[in-house]
Amino acid sequence: MTQELFREDSYLRQGEATVVAVTEQGVELDQTIFYPLGGGQPGDTGYLEGRNGQQWRVTDTRKDRESGQHIHFLESTEGLKVGDMVSMSLDWDRRHVHMRVHTCLHLLCSLIDAPVTGGNISANKGRLDFDLPEPPEKEHLTEQLNGLIQKQYPVSKRWITDEELDAQPELVRTLSVQPPRGTGKVRLINVESVDLQPCGGTHAANTGEIGEVRVTKIENKGKGNRRIILELLSV
Ligand SMILES: [Zn+2]
Repeated sequence: MTQELFREDSYLRQGEATVVAVTEQGVELDQTIFYPLGGGQPGDTGYLEGRNGQQWRVTDTRKDRESGQHIHFLESTEGLKVGDMVSMSLDWDRRHVHMRVHTCLHLLCSLIDAPVTGGNISANKGRLDFDLPEPPEKEHLTEQLNGLIQKQYPVSKRWITDEELDAQPELVRTLSVQPPRGTGKVRLINVESVDLQPCGGTHAANTGEIGEVRVTKIENKGKGNRRIILELLSV
């Protein structure tokens, strides 16, 4: 299983790793700073660099759910072999935008008292779908979100066991994305005094980092399903 360095520290921009497998699509590493596509958050991109200065572009990162190995998709694997040491570099600006949008979706979740049925992040936009009969008011929601952002609440994480999570099912807000299990422990993301839920994504350390946002659209996706779309105003 690839060691997921980004789970402990989502601010890692660079790191070292060893190639443990070379596949048709790319490479697997013993540890990684690249977040793999999942939970509605895109996979990270960036570069690997060998000891001789050769570079490989990472075009996407995915996790093999069965093996727990992360595949770093490369334009070419030429020159790479098992055992090679590589330096990893993230496309940090892109990832940081994802972290800000993702953290903002936690705030949105805290403001809407309804089950979450889906979600997605793309570039500076994010959306959550709620099982909600009446749509909220767009401008009011924008004000509420920016209010929480301006309060600069710290965002922290802690780990609980699967059993502790089972004993508190109310923590799980998202019906479509179950928290990552299998290792016996689950990571909780705590936006202080705002939101607490299990989540495997990457988050900003403080809500102030999100910057000003705007709810751009509230769509009716049928049968009480409301899609709320927001965007960052500064990227
Ligand atoms: Zn999250």
